[in-house]
Amino acid sequence: MQRVLLLMATRTYRAKAFMTAAHALGGEVIVGSERRQALSHLARGTSLTLDFRRPENAVKRIADFARKMPLDAVVGVDDGTTLVAAMASQALSLTGNSPESIEAAQNKFQVRELLAMAGLLSPTFWLLPAGGDPATLAAQVIYPCVLKPVFLAASQGVIRANDPREFIAAFERIRAILSRPEVRERGGDWAEKILVESFIPGTEVALEGLLSDGELRVLAIFDKPDQLDGPYFEETIYLTPSRLPRDDQSAIAGTVAQTAAALGLREGPIHAELRLNERGAWIIEIAARSIGGRCSSVLEFGAGVSLEDLILRQAIGAELPEIPDSLRPSGAMMIPIPRRGILRAVKGREQAAAVPGIAGIDITVPVGHEVAPLPEGDRYLGFIFAHGSTLDATESALREAHRRLEFVIA
Ligand code: ADP
Repeated sequence: MQRVLLLMATRTYRAKAFMTAAHALGGEVIVGSERRQALSHLARGTSLTLDFRRPENAVKRIADFARKMPLDAVVGVDDGTTLVAAMASQALSLTGNSPESIEAAQNKFQVRELLAMAGLLSPTFWLLPAGGDPATLAAQVIYPCVLKPVFLAASQGVIRANDPREFIAAFERIRAILSRPEVRERGGDWAEKILVESFIPGTEVALEGLLSDGELRVLAIFDKPDQLDGPYFEETIYLTPSRLPRDDQSAIAGTVAQTAAALGLREGPIHAELRLNERGAWIIEIAARSIGGRCSSVLEFGAGVSLEDLILRQAIGAELPEIPDSLRPSGAMMIPIPRRGILRAVKGREQAAAVPGIAGIDITVPVGHEVAPLPEGDRYLGFIFAHGSTLDATESALREAHRRLEFVIA
């Protein structure tokens, strides 16, 4: 019987999908998380309490555990845990990515450097001191550009500037985010930097894939039908299969494979965001994990086979099932936070769920909690999932369901 250690941040959206897959696999699952109580309702068996912010300590605990209970795979399910999973896999001689490749992928500046060195399409970029004088720095970049923290996710702190005036405002806004104690703790020295990139025009897509011994297998390409031109970059709708021509899809897959190679990523799930224009496919970001939030729930690779099933099977070296060439039209919508305040009520859920094609609505922010929109916020109100007979029908269902939902924010 196989024994898998799943590493999950306490706040992860990914626990349920991975636990379901792990139990379906029939092996033994151990959950490693920061707080024992948080995910214990999901873990029927053993759990390990780990401090992911101190990777060396966490790896030592995992190694101690594995001496008594040998592990077949250590899988980090999200950005907060993939580094420890890679370090632990290395320490236990299990298949996995090198810790250096994970660290590189999690640092937007290092990604830019490595891509430029590999000769891949890359925007011009500047790494600026967050403590510098914005008016002086504004004269050193080209416009339009995008300013961003080096280490955050979910578009938090990502702002477009079209001229020096907008640059100064964006710079100061990002500086305020970077000066929050919890953000500083997370970023360390990188919280002292702001990355600026020239704006890449084009349509945006996301690719979901699986690396095995350095070979990329594309599982899904998602179109993002809402144009993301800034000033903030709120994700909304993801639709698959992509409407793009085959050639574009091949270019996307090729760029992701080359990017993984440039970073040294070789094993396990890959989630990449790209922009496509007349010059080709440009990487915006790449991560050694699967798609975030609850979006994976719309993916089905043959009867009952989830994305997490594939990830875990590959991690333990099991045979992967035949994956269909094209998935049925499926979509997910991340529900943006319209304004700052306290979420008081969510209305219209039944009406939204009644829209034909809607497969589920998951409101992930509890009523009573404070919410903040981008660029300061770092989460969504929840998710809407849909399947339709066509992509158009799927997209319309998501938009109609969203229209019927009402979020009362005081
Ligand atoms: P995060 O990891 O926080 O999501 P990203 O660097 O992926 O941050 O940026 C978030 C979004 O901002 C991207 O999905 C894209 O729409 C937009 N974006 C980021 N950088 C650029 C750029 N150089 N040109 C155009 N759009 C960009």
